[in-house]
Amino acid sequence: MTSNNANGQPMSVGVVIIGAGQGGYQVAASLREAGYGERITIVGDETEHPYQRPPLSKAYLLGDTTAERLLLRPQSYYEKHTIDLVTNTRVTHIDRAASRVALSSGAPLAYDHLVIATGARNRLLPVTGATLDGVMYLRTLADADAIKQHFAAATNIVVAGAGFIGLELAAVASKLGKQVVVIEPLPRVMSRAVSDAISQFFAGAHAQFGVKLMVDTRLERINGSGRVMSVSLSGAVEVPADLVLVGIGILPADDLAQAAGLPVANGIVVDAQLLTADPKISAIGDCAAFPDSVTGAMVRLESVQNAVDQGRCVAKRIAGHPAPYEAVPWFWSDQRDLKLQMVGLTAGCDRTVVRGNPAERAFSVFCFRGDTLLGIESVNRGAEHMFGRRLLAAGESVTPDEAGDLSFDLKARLARLAPARVASAG
Ligand code: FAD
Repeated sequence: MTSNNANGQPMSVGVVIIGAGQGGYQVAASLREAGYGERITIVGDETEHPYQRPPLSKAYLLGDTTAERLLLRPQSYYEKHTIDLVTNTRVTHIDRAASRVALSSGAPLAYDHLVIATGARNRLLPVTGATLDGVMYLRTLADADAIKQHFAAATNIVVAGAGFIGLELAAVASKLGKQVVVIEPLPRVMSRAVSDAISQFFAGAHAQFGVKLMVDTRLERINGSGRVMSVSLSGAVEVPADLVLVGIGILPADDLAQAAGLPVANGIVVDAQLLTADPKISAIGDCAAFPDSVTGAMVRLESVQNAVDQGRCVAKRIAGHPAPYEAVPWFWSDQRDLKLQMVGLTAGCDRTVVRGNPAERAFSVFCFRGDTLLGIESVNRGAEHMFGRRLLAAGESVTPDEAGDLSFDLKARLARLAPARVASAG
């Protein structure tokens, strides 16, 4: 909304960002880097300044890092760059007609451009007993602190869901000497995101960590009075539990957008430039569904890379340099000594080629559709992951034979990329 100042000139009210997480912070930082000089306000409903979530299920839970070290920037950064950071405050309504948002505390905020970066919320376990004390979810620093406290007294931990978060929690809990059982309704771990070969490898690795993995198994009920004592599984099996950690996926936080009449379909629908149906509103990160630049299919990604690169893309557009969002997706997960890194989108893969030897705990799986490389999943093979990032960003491929041939020189292949494409792959 622009009103006029004393000289009759339009007065800018700047950019308002909903959500003080990874993407919200990035929009503000990139706007200032791009020389944007108007007001920037980030409104977040958590207490903390923007922080990194990935360590919550890894180093932070293990006690290997502190809350302060998770912060993306210290308080002084926001002051120095005149970014208004409003914490502990929820945006409760978007008034598109008046170009302003209502807050849970204080006066409404007007915007010239609004960026929705509200992330996601945990999918809840729909079983009897799910509200008992000792049934916990992990999304925020506060959740991680609460889980840490319960860890101390817990002996038997049940993890519901063998996705990334569930397996990272199992890896930490087993390292802390707990008895860990992971319950997964699907036939293999991380099945929505990785190839069979990677699932099999991680199932074996968790068995070595001492984790009991029960696939093809449903968690049907949580038992206890006041506190959790056990869980009932399909097949009339009962497993003791004094802590149940639930990691069964997340749902996009798209309710504000939906209430404001913006199209929503598994996330806030945006175009190739991350604009919603309203030209004054963008959406990024976990809450946004956007067209994949390669296939055109609508996708919603839950990763740091996606939130950061989309934040940068929107900031550039607002600062006057519009471009479609075309970053190559990548992701990582740390489970004990295993670093899993993935690049590309592998839906539609019909052929996989393993490079290296899983028995050596360092290998990659190259995923193809026909002869076209869709993505690479690497375990403790950072160089192959980086190779994939550069190759896919340049829009190029290797053949399945080349991928499987350890004598095929990946570095030399990168050197043959067209210079202009390498530059744009940055
Ligand atoms: P978020 O960072 O979640 O920020 C959204 C913020 O908006 C939140 O603070 C939320 O409370 C706030 N909010 C929501 N609604 C409102 C409102 N109405 N008003 C004000 N504020 C609001 N990704 C990886 O790539 N690798 C990993 O290893 C990895 N590990 C992870 C481990 C854990 C435990 C978790 C929870 C996530 C992990 N992720 C990982 C995912 C990654 O952290 C997210 O994809 C990323 O944070 C998304 O950024 P975002 O800005 O979209 O959302």
